[in-house]
Amino acid sequence: MFTTLQDRLTATFKGLRGKGRLSEADIDATAREIRVALLEADVALPVVREFIAAVRERARGAEVSQALNPAQQIIKIVNEELVTILGGETRRVRFAKNPPTVIMLAGLQGAGKTTLAGKLALWLKGQGHAPLLVAADLQRPNAVTQLQVVGERAGTPVFAPEPGNGVGDPVRVARQAMDFARDKQHDVVVVDTAGRLGIDAELMQQAADIRDAVQPDEILFVVDAMIGQDAVVTAEAFLEGVGFTGVVLTKLDGDARGGAALSVAKVTGRQVMFASNGEKLTDFDVFHPDRMASRILDMGDVLTLIEQAERTFDAQQQEEIARKFSTGEDFTLEDFMSQMQQLRKMGSMSKIFGMLPGMGQFREQIENIDERELDRTQAMISSMTPAERRDPKILNGSRRSRIARGSGTSVSAVNDLVERFGQAQQMMRTMRSGGAIPGMPGFGK
Ligand code: GDP
Repeated sequence: MFTTLQDRLTATFKGLRGKGRLSEADIDATAREIRVALLEADVALPVVREFIAAVRERARGAEVSQALNPAQQIIKIVNEELVTILGGETRRVRFAKNPPTVIMLAGLQGAGKTTLAGKLALWLKGQGHAPLLVAADLQRPNAVTQLQVVGERAGTPVFAPEPGNGVGDPVRVARQAMDFARDKQHDVVVVDTAGRLGIDAELMQQAADIRDAVQPDEILFVVDAMIGQDAVVTAEAFLEGVGFTGVVLTKLDGDARGGAALSVAKVTGRQVMFASNGEKLTDFDVFHPDRMASRILDMGDVLTLIEQAERTFDAQQQEEIARKFSTGEDFTLEDFMSQMQQLRKMGSMSKIFGMLPGMGQFREQIENIDERELDRTQAMISSMTPAERRDPKILNGSRRSRIARGSGTSVSAVNDLVERFGQAQQMMRTMRSGGAIPGMPGFGK
C-alpha cells in the first residue's frame, strides 16, 4: 500500500541528508521531487499543486531549529501536510443520540460494499454494538445471498425481503428494516445499497430514495483504491447525487499507488473513515491520517520522537556536544551521562525504540530491555569524581572498587562500563572522520 510514494519520498529525503542548511535551490529541487512522487502515486493534480505550495512556503519560512537538521525539518513539514490532505484528525463514526444509528453504504458495483458491511458488523460488535445488516441491493440477483453469507461470517443478522414481499423495491425493504431494528433492539443499522458498473442517474435516484427513507446518520462512500483517477470523478458524482459524510477506501492491499484514493478526501472535503486491505473480515481498520502519513514516509513514529527530543534536549548542551564533535575533542563520561539523562527524560528505552521505524521485527527484544541496567550505569557514573569521568584511564583497582561500593554494583560491572565507554569513544573518533549519528539530535550533520 502506497509503496511507490514511500520509495520515492524516502529517496528524496536521503538526498537531503548531510546538508547543513537548505538553500532556495534545495527547496525547489525537493519540491519538484515530491511533486513527481505524488503524481506517480496517482494523486490528483490540484491536490498535488496545493500540497507542494504549502510545503514550499513552510520550508522557506521554517524557523531554525536547535534539534532538527534541514532534512528532518522538511520531513516534518511533509508529514504534517500529508496528515492535512489525509483529513487531519481521525474521523470517528457519529452515533445517533436516539438509536438506531443508520449507516448507509454507497458506491459502484464491485467497490466492496457488501464485504464492508460484514467488516463493519464485526467491528461494531467488537465495540459492543448490536448491528443489523440490511440488503437493499436488489439489483444483482445474488446480492442478498452474498450479504447473508457475509452476515453469517460476522455473526450478525441480515434483514432481507421475504420472497414476494418487497422484492424489487429497496426503499420499501429499507423502511421495513428500520421497524425490524427498533423492534429487535439493534442499535446500529448498516444498509447495503446497489451499485452499478458506472455512474447513472437511476442508480443515484434509487440511493437518494433509500437515503430519504432511512435518514442515515452516516453515508459512507465506498471506493476501490485500484480504480485510479476515476475514484475522484466517481466521488464527485456520488457527492452530488446522494451526498456522503465519509469515505471508505477498499482494496488498499492491491494498489501500490493509492494516490487517487487519497485525493478523494481532499477533493470532496469528506474524510476517509475506514480502510479495507483484504478479503477477510478482519482486514479492516479505522483510518488514522497521522498514522497513515507516518507509514507513507516509513518513519515509524519518529515525529513524535523528534518533537519529544525538541522539547527535552537542552540546546546548550547539544551545542557543546556538537562543538566537541567538530573540534575532535573527546567525549567524556560526563557528556555520556548528560545525554543519557536527557534521553531518559523522553521515556523508557522500550518506548523510544518502539517509535523508531523498522523496529517491528525487534519487538520482543525491545520489550525485554532492562531499564535497571541504565539505572546501574547512571549510578556508577554518579559515584565517580569529575576527574575520573573526564579521564577514565586514571581508574585503578582501588578507585574501581570504591565506585562499585558507592553504586551498589560490582567491580566487574565497573570494568565493563569503562571498557564499553572506551569502545564508544573509539567509535566516535571513527565516525568523526566519516559520517553522522543518524537520529541523534545534535550529532547529525
Ligand atoms: P460490492 O459490489 O460493492 O458489494 O462489492 P463486493 O463487496 O462484492 O466486493 C467485490 C470484490 O472485491 C469481492 O470479490 C471482494 O472479495 C473483493 N474485496 C472487497 N474488499 C476488498 C479488499 O479490501 N481487498 C481485496 N483484495 N478485495 C476486496
